[in-house]
Amino acid sequence: MQYLQQRQDVLRAAQTIARTKMVVGTWGNVSVRVPDKPYLLITPSGMKYDTMTIEDIVMVDWSGTTVEGIWKPSVETPTHVRIYQQRSDVNAIVHVHSPYLTAFAVAGLPVPVILEETAQVIGHEIKTAPYAICGTARLADNVVQTLGSGVAVLMANHGMVGVGRNIEEALRVCYIAEETARIALLAQSLGQVRALDPAEIEKLHRGFAAYGQTKE
Ligand SMILES: [Zn+2]
Repeated sequence: MQYLQQRQDVLRAAQTIARTKMVVGTWGNVSVRVPDKPYLLITPSGMKYDTMTIEDIVMVDWSGTTVEGIWKPSVETPTHVRIYQQRSDVNAIVHVHSPYLTAFAVAGLPVPVILEETAQVIGHEIKTAPYAICGTARLADNVVQTLGSGVAVLMANHGMVGVGRNIEEALRVCYIAEETARIALLAQSLGQVRALDPAEIEKLHRGFAAYGQTKE
């Protein structure tokens, strides 16, 4: 079996989102790009995360055909493939159904850039891709279009997709996005949500990208 490190990355991220309740049951999915081929490694469809092993991770080509693995790949494979095709900078994708982000996706409202960590890690408001049924090419197109050159996108009435240069980045995008959505909702209940100034967002984002962190 090849790509052990990549398989481990997918498994660890999938188990992390399950353990931290970013998904319920077997929902959500995780993938990474295979470094030297037009393939990706993705979680299988409908399998429990706690008993999943690296052998269960499915390798598929960019047409969605299984190259290695005995299980059916995630139903959202077309969306993952389209993102990798459009974004050569993306090597990992995490898709979650976490409650606060999904609330924004149901409301069809963007998650505003309200926290320094939102500016640093995400750097843009998180917009909602128009609804289409899961697993369809239409949903894949909507997600890729709305994502643009960003790192996070909501799927209407569904959840969120976070992307990164590696699995840690994609996971971090999901957690910061969920925390941002939670705080935005709390602030809204206090009467107002004030987004950061675009120039400050840009500055914070560039600083974080350059150093990986900012000084306290
Ligand atoms: Zn989903």
